[in-house]
Amino acid sequence: MILDDNAKRILCAFKAAGYEAYAVGGCVRDYFLGVSGGDTDIAVSAPPPVTENILAENGFKAVETGIKHGTVTAVLGSESYEITTFRADGDYDDCRHPRSVSFVRDIESDLARRDFTVNAMAYSPEKGFVDPFGGRADIKNRLIRAVGDPDKRFREDALRIMRALRFSSTLGFDIEPQTQKALLSRCRLLENISRERIYTELLKLLCGKNVFAVLVKYQSVICAAVPQLAAAVGCEQNTPWHCMDVYCHIAKAVSFAPAEPELRLAMLLHDIGKPLVKRTDEGGRDHFKNHAAVGAELAKEVLRGFHASNKTTERVVTLVKYHQSIEDVGAVSVPRWFNRIGAQNTLDLFRVRLADLKAHNMEKDGVRREISAMKSLIAEAERLIAEKAPYRVSDLAVNGNDITALGCSGREVGKVLNRLLDLVISGKIENNREALLGYLKDNITASNSFIV
Ligand code: ATP
Ligand code: MG
Repeated sequence: MILDDNAKRILCAFKAAGYEAYAVGGCVRDYFLGVSGGDTDIAVSAPPPVTENILAENGFKAVETGIKHGTVTAVLGSESYEITTFRADGDYDDCRHPRSVSFVRDIESDLARRDFTVNAMAYSPEKGFVDPFGGRADIKNRLIRAVGDPDKRFREDALRIMRALRFSSTLGFDIEPQTQKALLSRCRLLENISRERIYTELLKLLCGKNVFAVLVKYQSVICAAVPQLAAAVGCEQNTPWHCMDVYCHIAKAVSFAPAEPELRLAMLLHDIGKPLVKRTDEGGRDHFKNHAAVGAELAKEVLRGFHASNKTTERVVTLVKYHQSIEDVGAVSVPRWFNRIGAQNTLDLFRVRLADLKAHNMEKDGVRREISAMKSLIAEAERLIAEKAPYRVSDLAVNGNDITALGCSGREVGKVLNRLLDLVISGKIENNREALLGYLKDNITASNSFIV
């Protein structure tokens, strides 16, 4: 079903008022792909003030979201629908913003300004599918192709370069050769694009199913978007553990991580510090001492540049910083890691480490063993989180008042609580009040302090 009931009502209202109205862009593409759930964008022949009247007359709430570009948002229940007047973009000033927009009379002209053929289709119940640039054929052939002259389209708006990669990654489509050639030759124009917009497309790209191929094939574009990655390209890793250069290892590791933006971002940045610390010993073997700490600093710089939220920055930087710190997988205490960096961060760290390991040299027994140990740790972490197992002093069944009541004071209170936590984490005492108080009473000395 291409139109939901609300979209049908909106289209009907415009038709009744004597205007054309279509569902356009992503929702038509997704219909042919057999996926659902995205937004329905609507294009209409009515100018913006008329659009607002039509919505008001039909009792639909309207919000002026981008009136300059001819966009009004209709809010029906919990859903919102962007309604944009058919428009053509004038000349572009800065590789991003059209100097002017003009409203046009026909849907074909509106579709001509859209980025790729798969995004340049429209549908209305009366007219059926409008597909002047062969979007359906390109979906069938799994191709991302610019509408019109690709070089001109990327010069107009260089963000389309990132969007081409994004759609190639998420849809698993190839980029048509002329479009590919144009975007590779124009990738420097990304310098003119706002970091936030690049970041939004980058996150979507990273979560795509085709991300490995896209990262490897379009290295130059990725490095134009994230210049701090450039040194990883061709940075060889002559160690038994690796069989790829740093950049390709990163690309592989990204593809193995769960498709969550922050985890994929952490993978993209996890080894970003390696080129800076690389040392080759006399035997020709490469070493990357301290690369995680150096990488964490660089990752912070990348994320600040993208204006990422503090929450994302903190989470990603923590993962980069600790990604190398699980030395002996067999000796890991999950609750102690919980205590050190938090339960969710620990689980993330294990997932990041697993993705990292999978991108190592699988010929090595050691790598395969670590992978299976890491999978067990992930299962254990998930279980402990589900069981709400204690890992902080505040999770204990006793608190500071209980310790004070037993005659303890000052810094000793904290010390005792930590000792109890230690015993609980190592499974020596159960985390219930009776057991903990019993233990304390048994271990109180004559001088009224505890044996800790
Ligand atoms: P998504 O499912 O991610 O929302 P989408 O195709 O709807 O995908 P949007 O960014 O929401 O992508 O854009 C909506 C439509 O607007 C696109 O389908 C495309 O037709 C057009 N469009 C968006 N950005 C551009 C651009 N930079 N240049 C030309 N057309 C664009
Ligand atoms: Mg959309």
